[in-house]
Amino acid sequence: MTHSSVLAPTTLEWITRLIAFDTTSRNSNRDLIEAIAVEVRAHGLEPVLVPNADGTKANLVVTIPAHDGSTTGGVMLAGHTDVVPVDGQSWSSAPFTAELRENRLYGRGAADMKAFSGVILALLPDFLAQPLATPLHLAFTYDEEVGCHGAITLLADLAARGIRPEICVVGEPTSMRAVTAHKSSHLYRVSFTGLASHSSNTPNGVNAIEYAARAIAFIRSIADEHRVNGPFDPSFEVPFTTINVGTISGGAAVNTVAQHCEFEFEFRAIPGVSTTEIFSRIENFVLGELRPAMQAEHASADASFAPTGAVPSLSAAGTGAALALVHDLTGTTTEETVGYGTEGGLFQLAGIDTVVCGPGSIRQGHTANEYIDLAQISACEDFMRALAVRLAQP
Ligand SMILES: [Zn+2]
Repeated sequence: MTHSSVLAPTTLEWITRLIAFDTTSRNSNRDLIEAIAVEVRAHGLEPVLVPNADGTKANLVVTIPAHDGSTTGGVMLAGHTDVVPVDGQSWSSAPFTAELRENRLYGRGAADMKAFSGVILALLPDFLAQPLATPLHLAFTYDEEVGCHGAITLLADLAARGIRPEICVVGEPTSMRAVTAHKSSHLYRVSFTGLASHSSNTPNGVNAIEYAARAIAFIRSIADEHRVNGPFDPSFEVPFTTINVGTISGGAAVNTVAQHCEFEFEFRAIPGVSTTEIFSRIENFVLGELRPAMQAEHASADASFAPTGAVPSLSAAGTGAALALVHDLTGTTTEETVGYGTEGGLFQLAGIDTVVCGPGSIRQGHTANEYIDLAQISACEDFMRALAVRLAQP
């Protein structure tokens, strides 16, 4: 399949606009959502905004009804609006200003995954050009990168309104190939409260950083067990369960015994591995060993655990019509597995036949100088145009 076609005039504009909103997950995405709302209203559609608990973020869902007015069934295209931070990364151009160089578009979110959303918005007229045989749902979510919280409220909203898409395509970067399975992902925050003291008198305090360090070393030892002993699933690029400590913060000054330390870890389990067992071992170590040891130093010390998100795995066994549709629209016949989690696991759990397929490569996702090849954007346009033809009322 070659992609020599010229991009729709508004596609790069839309992707550039979307990149310009700094929707790092810690920020609000409301400005970006408002821009999409304005656009879909301009096309005569009425978007539904599904806010988070404090209203700082929102999903946007819009349904193009079928020719007979029906709004349930059909196809849903889903993309998250948030991006991962650029903190600490060295970029050669401004991350939130899309830049075209050597047939690539650079910018945070170019691959993961504002190109997919930009193509949808640019090609809205294609979907509205003729009556549809089945509805098309467009879903733009918040907080995917920090635990898929938006997808959960999205599903609740759809259920409340009696909308159940038959098929979902999640446009995470797969180089426009069909991905039908991924690992589950589980996120936790671990907090240690020690007791501050002048560092000249360490026995007077309880050092929260030191206990966090012991917990982290323990977590690494479990990760190493899985890496060496399995279980293994060769269909994954990383064929074993992984665990990663991704953030840590703690301490107030070098001459003070650290009163607080907090870190976040996640694990990504291959199908069949007991996630409860992994979590229980870590929990038992932190709450059963470290906490009593801290409290033996001072009764006020404490340690706690909080799950911050979980994404169920996506199973190839659950895909039928969605895979057939993606194969048909892309002209591919392959079926792949990826290590990263997506909202697709939640959609599948809700009974929606789901496949992941979107432009760009995950290799560029989350990196400094994230980019997407223009050929990938073009391939995504071809996909959307073919979908519009497919959905048209015969
Ligand atoms: Zn993503």
